[in-house]
Amino acid sequence: MSKTDKNQFGFETRMIHAGTPPEPITGARQTPIFQNTSYVFHDADHAASLFNLQTFGFIYSRLTNPTVAALEERIASLENGRGATCCASGHAAQILAFFPFMEPGDAFIASNRLYGGSITQFGKTFKKFGWQVHFVDVDEPENVRQALTPNCKAIFVESLANPGGVVSDLEALADIAHDAGVPLIVDNTMATPYLCQPFEWGADLVVHSMTKFLSGNGTSVGGCVVDSGTFDWSQNDKFAGLTEPEPAYHGLRFYETFGDMAFTTHAHAVGLRDLGATLAPMNAFQTLLGIETLSLRMDRHCANALEVAHFLEGHELVDWVSHAGLDSSPYRALAKKYLPGGAGAVFTFGVKGGYEMGVKVVESCELFSHLANIGDTRSLILHPASTTHRQLSDEQRVAAGAGPEVVRVSIGLETVGDLLADLDQALQLAAKPGKHAAE
Ligand SMILES: *Cc1c(COP(=O)(O)O)cnc(C)c1O
Repeated sequence: MSKTDKNQFGFETRMIHAGTPPEPITGARQTPIFQNTSYVFHDADHAASLFNLQTFGFIYSRLTNPTVAALEERIASLENGRGATCCASGHAAQILAFFPFMEPGDAFIASNRLYGGSITQFGKTFKKFGWQVHFVDVDEPENVRQALTPNCKAIFVESLANPGGVVSDLEALADIAHDAGVPLIVDNTMATPYLCQPFEWGADLVVHSMTKFLSGNGTSVGGCVVDSGTFDWSQNDKFAGLTEPEPAYHGLRFYETFGDMAFTTHAHAVGLRDLGATLAPMNAFQTLLGIETLSLRMDRHCANALEVAHFLEGHELVDWVSHAGLDSSPYRALAKKYLPGGAGAVFTFGVKGGYEMGVKVVESCELFSHLANIGDTRSLILHPASTTHRQLSDEQRVAAGAGPEVVRVSIGLETVGDLLADLDQALQLAAKPGKHAAE
């Protein structure tokens, strides 16, 4: 293993080097796309030991693939975690994060301010697995302590919440989780490891939608789960999937055998094996390329976003702006503590004129693209109530910060004056009665 794998270099060095030494056979400096499904065994004994998890190596790309493994090593390094498991999407990562220890009848607590798709996944689809979620307003962390039940297996929050402006008090939430003997899982998608390091504050697992800032170009859907390696899965009887014998591997106990790599090994050897939500090698390659410039992009994303937020806050057609970098934000102090390098590039603002005005502003933008993604180099705009948060109830939408007047932006890397001009013309056009472009 090279020095780059040991977290002793700076963040920017690890963005470029962690997990990706030159390819040993050809010397290829950029990581090759290992576009293949399977790997030749040396002999029958080698095959048997691979299948028994006694030897590390590649069998079949549903479980592991060299390009994907390089990305896993890089993300684990950037999060200062022990191991990472990449998968097909952010939503797949959320299933993989819970899968090793959730049984039918188990529950977990989640923030009621999450990406709308996560509220739907947890509240509706997880129910079919017999996994129950309790949504709680985590702004007051004691609410979480009060919501704990004996069958609660985890606490889940977003470090910086989508659609924006909300910062979770990770240190307080980690204390509550650890008092209850359960892991704190943090969705770090919006912050990225460049802006926020959840493990430093006591989080145990981190999940990402790599679709967003990590890949950064809007080319590749992907997700990952990172394990800190520090949670004691044997401290109580809640985590039998990791501590009890696994029949499919001849009674192997993952935690006893793999220690701080137990979660990551299980996520590959059982999670990806049986759930099958594997990341394609091409997407892993695109994401590796994206991460090479992560810090440069995030600095520019944050600077542009703060300038746009200030501009909108002073705009006559705007009621409020949610960016946690603004002095008016109730999350300003939490943002300074957990996001010292900037409060991200995705935020919301409330237009005067409600639902209809929100839709018109989005349709009137010319430079901003109207679409359902964030974290692209391009600036993006969306009206959550009519799109990403459409499947929620009115109360859930308001709780999630996606009420009728709310517009969400993901600020890109363009010349900031052009972004201000586009938003201004869109607001002015939308406010003109009967003179709307889309009418
Ligand atoms: C997009 C997103 C997800 C889901 O990720 P996909 O890659 O779209 O499956 C989860 N959490 C957050 C915060 C997101 O922004």
